[in-house]
Amino acid sequence: QSEARKRLIAGLIRDVPDFPKPGVTFKDITPLLASPNGFQAAITEIIDAAPRDIDVVVGMEARGFIFASPVALALGAGFVPVRKPGKLPGAVLSQSFELEYGSAELNLHADAIKPDARVLVVDDVLATGGTVGATAALLKQIGAELVHVSVVMELGFLGGREYLVQRGIDSSSAIL
Ligand code: AMP
Repeated sequence: QSEARKRLIAGLIRDVPDFPKPGVTFKDITPLLASPNGFQAAITEIIDAAPRDIDVVVGMEARGFIFASPVALALGAGFVPVRKPGKLPGAVLSQSFELEYGSAELNLHADAIKPDARVLVVDDVLATGGTVGATAALLKQIGAELVHVSVVMELGFLGGREYLVQRGIDSSSAIL
């Protein structure tokens, strides 16, 4: 049944060549979101792979929010957003990370997560692992435990999973 779900999910993610720039194949999840069965299948796959006793589900701006929120509700956990700079109104922790060209920064409300919380991180696509790595560093600043990372899709050739393994982070994807 999980295999059928994975096939359904994979079939609803659209490859868009040369977006947002030449040479990049963008994984467009909007057909998946527009399909009630497909969206439900993706959420079910993430929930089935999630460890027990999760206190907080963290989602990254912006597409991570879409998947992390229903997962949080289903697990009886809270939802906490990781955002781009200048969006969160309270005191924030900040983490910068390297992109292919240049660098980026992510923020987390400093008081959003308790130091003893068990955290699940959810995003749409795992590419190089930089985004998840920066989120893990934010959780480390708090002292919270990053128990697992779940993504809908992994771009295996970019080595994101290995990048996370090197940092002691366990991950799974609904489809590869
Ligand atoms: P990375 O930090 O390299 O692992 O990139 C992951 C983040 O960038 C995720 O939040 C994705 O939404 C986005 N992303 C990176 N590459 C792609 C891609 N080819 N298609 C869609 N989203 C992507």
